[in-house]
Amino acid sequence: MSDETTTPRTDTAGSDGHGPRDQSPREANRAQAAQRAEVSNFEIVNHWFTLAADRLEIPEDVRAVLSSSYREVQVQIPASLSDGQIHVFSGYRVQHNGARGPYKGGIRFHPDVDLDEVRALASLMTWKTAIADVPYGGAKGGVNCDPKKLERGEVEKIARSFMDKIEKVLGPTRDIPAPDVGTNAQTMAWLMDEYGKLHGHTPAVVTGKPIALEGSYGREAATGRGVVCMLEEAAKGVGLKLKGARVVVQGYGNVGSWAARLAAQLGCKVIAVSDADGAIRNDEGLDPDRLHEQVSEGRAVPEYEDAERISPDELLATECDVLIPAALGGMIHEANADSIDCKLIVEGANSPTTPAADAILADKGVSVVPDVMANAGGVVVSYFEWAQNLQHFRWSEEEVNDRLSSIMRTAFRTVSDRAEEDDVSLRVAGYSIGIERVLEAARLRGYLTDTRVPGGD
Ligand code: NAD
Repeated sequence: MSDETTTPRTDTAGSDGHGPRDQSPREANRAQAAQRAEVSNFEIVNHWFTLAADRLEIPEDVRAVLSSSYREVQVQIPASLSDGQIHVFSGYRVQHNGARGPYKGGIRFHPDVDLDEVRALASLMTWKTAIADVPYGGAKGGVNCDPKKLERGEVEKIARSFMDKIEKVLGPTRDIPAPDVGTNAQTMAWLMDEYGKLHGHTPAVVTGKPIALEGSYGREAATGRGVVCMLEEAAKGVGLKLKGARVVVQGYGNVGSWAARLAAQLGCKVIAVSDADGAIRNDEGLDPDRLHEQVSEGRAVPEYEDAERISPDELLATECDVLIPAALGGMIHEANADSIDCKLIVEGANSPTTPAADAILADKGVSVVPDVMANAGGVVVSYFEWAQNLQHFRWSEEEVNDRLSSIMRTAFRTVSDRAEEDDVSLRVAGYSIGIERVLEAARLRGYLTDTRVPGGD
């Protein structure tokens, strides 16, 4: 693990060679994208896993089982695009650990997707589902395409072709995908439909579907809602009043925009926001609902009228009470962590903070609610959606939200009690709980008959 390797690289280079280039003339496209750390997502996740495994004194051979994937599938996705050329994309599905139940995890469409990233995100899902205590293992998938540069029909073609190639390892009792960066309810509808052509109508094969296709009420907002539950719990711990608390959000997609809108409903003031096109700030407060409408119409965050345009680095350095990273991994790194000026970070994104940055934030006294618990709301409501699909029954939105809140708050209390008991960060406490639960399941199934692991006979 090289904490030092934090030379920034640009995020969305847009020169992946796939799909038509974005010819949009809008000013916002000239904004410099925020920079990500060079340290890989897999290194980040393995760093936290190793810290917790060391504390639990997990033997090396058992560790090797837990830190590597059970199955990694890589497929070729050739697609004829509107430029008349065949473009070859790579699709991945990584199933990390299935001791606690069927594999579960999102599918990402983004030009930076590669095996290392998908592997890391799959491992993170194993620990996340265990901490939230939902009966799943961990998986992740992705295709290295850029949906922003593709026509709708092209994205559909890629999604269906991807499903055709990985359907053998999926299924309601095997592995259940969900949306992630660059995919949404429509993508899930195409995936479900394609799977149905081969296996008959099977809504429980994917979650995050549209409501009209047996999606769950509350799923779209679930990750952001879960982030805000964690924010409420953590705020109590640091003595922060949410009414009037200044919030900064990096990334204004599904997670960021829901977190911003729900935080505003609690009285928080959202003062700065960014997306891949740039960042904006207004100390009097932005209107998160208006901003969401604008983004839904296809206009970038920097096009918001009543705000000052700032750089992505200035966004992170904005003095505030709460920072919610909700974009991509590695955005908070050694080169920018010291500039962060907030009391609390709630990680909506996966792996937004490198280990080096995490140490800097700890020295500065910033409290961090880590991804592995903070953004579990999505998979929790995915679990509800799956449970509803298996029963062909629908719960009300209120019921979904109440149950989500209860699971998130229980997870927060369990992890924070453990952190206090062991005198470690929430992150190390969370990973420790996750590892223990996975080991217990593996032992009970008979995969591990090892007396050296915690709980061993
Ligand atoms: P999304 O595609 O809906 O939104 C991503 C947002 O990040 C967009 O606003 C995009 O413009 C912005 N972004 C991209 N590059 C950026 C950059 N360099 N600087 C600033 N902003 C940038 O994706 P999402 O579903 O909201 O996921 C966001 C994060 O949350 C990801 O890390 C994802 O893995 C994680 N996550 C998502 C879910 C879910 O249910 N969707 C669940 C758990 C975790």
